[in-house]
Amino acid sequence: GNTFGLKEFGGITGNNFNAELIKKDFPILRETVNGKPLVWFDNAATTQKPQAVIDRIAYFYEHENSNIHRAAHELAARASDAYEAAREKVKTFLNAGSVNEIVFVRGATEGINLVAQSWGDPNLVAGDEIIVSNLEHHANIVPWKRLADKKGLKLRVIPVDDDGQILLDEYAKLLNSKTRLVAFTQVSNALGTVTPAKKIVEMAHAAGAKVLIDGAQSVSHMKVDVQDLNPDWLVFSGHKLFGPTGIGALYGKEELLNEMQPYQAGGNMIQDVTFEEIKYHKAPNRFEAGTGNIADAIGLGAAIDYVTKIGIDTIGQYEHYLLDYATRLLKEIPGVRLIGTAKDKASVLSFNLQGYSNDQVGQALNKEGVAVRTGHHCAQPILRRMGVETTVRPSLAFYNTTQDVDTFIKTLWELKKVRF
Ligand code: PLP
Repeated sequence: GNTFGLKEFGGITGNNFNAELIKKDFPILRETVNGKPLVWFDNAATTQKPQAVIDRIAYFYEHENSNIHRAAHELAARASDAYEAAREKVKTFLNAGSVNEIVFVRGATEGINLVAQSWGDPNLVAGDEIIVSNLEHHANIVPWKRLADKKGLKLRVIPVDDDGQILLDEYAKLLNSKTRLVAFTQVSNALGTVTPAKKIVEMAHAAGAKVLIDGAQSVSHMKVDVQDLNPDWLVFSGHKLFGPTGIGALYGKEELLNEMQPYQAGGNMIQDVTFEEIKYHKAPNRFEAGTGNIADAIGLGAAIDYVTKIGIDTIGQYEHYLLDYATRLLKEIPGVRLIGTAKDKASVLSFNLQGYSNDQVGQALNKEGVAVRTGHHCAQPILRRMGVETTVRPSLAFYNTTQDVDTFIKTLWELKKVRF
């Protein structure tokens, strides 16, 4: 089968990572599309779920379903325990110092909006500066742009080179005493660029700014250790980490979270309510107003267990092998322009194929059962910086095999034969 140890490429023999076997854990990967086995290459948009996650969510509804924290009966205890155990798993996964630093949110988008509203709005004043990178997903641009427009802040942008890599020298020039926040992605969803996150954080802190890392595209591909990276906040989405939709996490330094204003208001987040005065809980409950997404938080915990069992470093190593394999084959096809050629990349291969619209390429791939995203990937500024409006974007995960890559490549060669 297609094991990690393929002799012909890279010499990564001796490693027995077996993606064919892993694939069997994901029931949806047995689907056929247009009579062809599904090849899921849309992992940057969302990932598929292993049976263990699906089973865990079903188990919750069959045996544990209850609201949490509020009642004194058996099922409330089961649900609360499972929910808090999931928080503990996120904490361990990110190597946070305490469970109090983990807030369950709807996803990366909500995590960023929470920081913009609960920290940015009350703390930033006209003339203050926020830095983002040119690589950002709209989720890490629009909340800051809105805040900037509302409060008279200046939004500044770290430029990238033609390979799509952060220009650290230019970043250094943007930092000054007015910089209050640097918000940047660890991995670009449009190009796959891995940014020098630790360095960016250090430089921001040296300038006295706070830092938010968008981990939406990084946590599924590499070890993300918040004590090592040292951001003030980091966000990610469960659905991009083989977990359910509608759940994600915001990591924040405990002291900072407790200084922040609540996000939404209602039940769960208060300690005491009178009509005269309201006392809020500390983090994380302070930010979890109302009934949260209990089942999916527990499902996310199961996804983290699954990923941890395989090992995030093993996953990263295998994916790099697969990415190198796919990149090499893609580059051999005449008329392919690869967009995003950073030295340090994860998962993503954005490209255009001469003679075809991106939609035509996407449709041809779909006919062969290969799911890729075409479009602007919610990252218009970086695509425009690279001179395009849209791309075809296959994005890989550890359940993809070299055979999947071969199917994808073969389809592009067929298209090329027609037009060249
Ligand atoms: N940030 C990046 C880099 C992303 O790729 C995405 C999703 O595509 C997001 C943020 C937003 O994630 P979500 O839609 O799950 O909130």
